[in-house]
Amino acid sequence: MSPLAHLVGSWLVAVATTTNPRDRKLVTLAGVLPDADGLGAVVDVVGSAISGKENSFHYYQQYHHILLHGWPGAIAVSVVLMFFARQHWRVFLLCLLTFHLHLLCDLVGSRGPDYGDFWPICYSEPLFRHPIWFWKHQWRLDGWQNLTLFALWLAAALWLAVKRGHSFVEMLGERADKIFVQALRKWFRQPVP
Ligand SMILES: [Zn+2]
Repeated sequence: MSPLAHLVGSWLVAVATTTNPRDRKLVTLAGVLPDADGLGAVVDVVGSAISGKENSFHYYQQYHHILLHGWPGAIAVSVVLMFFARQHWRVFLLCLLTFHLHLLCDLVGSRGPDYGDFWPICYSEPLFRHPIWFWKHQWRLDGWQNLTLFALWLAAALWLAVKRGHSFVEMLGERADKIFVQALRKWFRQPVP
């Protein structure tokens, strides 16, 4: 799934399971961070622009879905994030949950444009090569199933934002979130406090 879908989905889980803004953000972050292993694409693009050579997306291909899409990454990310939490152990377990929700969503819906272009989950990478999981009915990344799921999650997240006064935009900062929620409330004709 797309990073935005992971963000919204993880935020919904965090809203339902945490008791304060800090823990909510940490649990949401754990559901987004796995895709940080795709940042090699930035290195590839910059390297290609500097060298003038054709971009083969070497680092992206090498590390995306490898470094942070298995249990070693799940434990590492959850341990680091729990230290910033108010409720350490609760956040540790919830980070494991949203991290694994990310892996599950990728397993189900990360196929490339061609039919055989599966994207597997190598659950023990980068420590061990196996097990490697893939689902032969994996949805296309831009398939209608992914888009439908994302639309439902987004609708739920926007509804919650109007009701509760905070949204997934809080990951960018409180000020941005306040502006976003105020605009939403005006849009839905809800009273702005
Ligand atoms: Zn991913």
